[in-house]
Amino acid sequence: MEEEYIKSLDRALSMIPKRTTSGERFEEPKPEVTVFGTRTVIHNFNELARRLNRSPQHVLKFLSKEMATAGTYDGQRVYFQGKFHEATIGQLIHIYVTRYVICPICKGPDTKIEKSGRFTTLTCEACGAKSPVKPV
Ligand SMILES: [Zn+2]
Repeated sequence: MEEEYIKSLDRALSMIPKRTTSGERFEEPKPEVTVFGTRTVIHNFNELARRLNRSPQHVLKFLSKEMATAGTYDGQRVYFQGKFHEATIGQLIHIYVTRYVICPICKGPDTKIEKSGRFTTLTCEACGAKSPVKPV
C-alpha cells in the first residue's frame, strides 16, 4: 500500500514543472579542500560555483574577502594563500548560500543577483521576490 502511495507521489511530483520544485531543500555543495604547504586548494571550485548557480568570480570574491586572503582561479580550482580547514570553507559556503543563493521569502534556490543603481538585489525566479543583499 505504502509503495503505491509513494509511486503516485512520485508521479505527481514529476508532473510539477521544474521552476516550482524550488521549495525543495537545496543541497549545499561541499568543497574538496587540500592544504599544500602554505597554500589551500579547493579542487571542485568550478563544480561548486555551478551548483550554486553563480559565477566562479563572484564566489571567489566572497571567499577571498571573508578569508582575508588572495585567491587565484585557474578555470577549475582555486588556490588561496594561507592554510584553511575544509570545515572553515564549508562554513563560508553555507553563509554564501544563505546570503546570495536562497530566497529569504520562499527558501528556493532559483535566484539571481541583480544590480540596479546602487542597490544589489537577490531576485527570485520562483516567487518573484526581490530582496536586498549586501554587495560582495
Ligand atoms: Zn522566492
